[in-house]
Amino acid sequence: MNTHLIVANWKMNPESKEKAKAIVSEIESKIKKVKSVRVVICPPFVFLNEVAKSISSSKKLYLGAQDLFIGEGVSHTGEISPKMLKNAGAKYIIVGHSEKRELSDNDEMVREKLLGALKEGFKTILCVGEKERDAHGKYYQFLKNQLESALTSLPKKFIKNLIIAYEPVWAIGKSEKEAMKPEQLNEMAIFIKRVVSDTLHYKEINKLPVLYGGSVTFGNGKDIVEKGNVNGLLVGRESLEAEHFFKLIKEISK
Ligand code: PEP
Repeated sequence: MNTHLIVANWKMNPESKEKAKAIVSEIESKIKKVKSVRVVICPPFVFLNEVAKSISSSKKLYLGAQDLFIGEGVSHTGEISPKMLKNAGAKYIIVGHSEKRELSDNDEMVREKLLGALKEGFKTILCVGEKERDAHGKYYQFLKNQLESALTSLPKKFIKNLIIAYEPVWAIGKSEKEAMKPEQLNEMAIFIKRVVSDTLHYKEINKLPVLYGGSVTFGNGKDIVEKGNVNGLLVGRESLEAEHFFKLIKEISK
């Protein structure tokens, strides 16, 4: 059976390290017997240490970061470098999340962050996704542009650490019924793999993991993964409720 990847994006939550510890400890204590899943917790920077400590003996849980800074030198107030993240124990990094794109990161910055993270050896999760769906299918071109601008000329050696998270922005932060329908997702996952393969022409693209994100819950996650034919999930709100998140993990592992 394939191992599925489930990535928890905690965004700017929770409010305290005690709460962060409580969520991750509950998952850690329950996940031991669960098969065929790998779970990545991406807490805010201030809780990286706390989460790292709580998962240090786990073979199923990994630490991830929500962002990184790319630039020379150290005079960058408020920023966190890839080396610091590495030293904190992070193995995964999210780049290009729609909320960062909205705030500051244009396509060029996303590309730089992607390259910076891959060069440092991180498993790097590139988020892409259209803001809206239109009747003429312009969203296909939008997605293609995002993928091409991030990936064109990416060296072959980085492919093994590349992960694509498809997160249609219109499906993020909604009710579980408003998540993308698995049948639609299946089509988009095929489209994404085709664009990446046309952009990079490496046979290793066959193994590229594609995740889905947007209003995933323990109620819809399994259907999304199975019928949507994706390799895992990027989960926002549901990953902050330890009980719900564990139910989701268990469903996916069945
Ligand atoms: C996200 O923002 O990456 C996300 C998937 O959020 P949610 O699961 O809350 O829709």
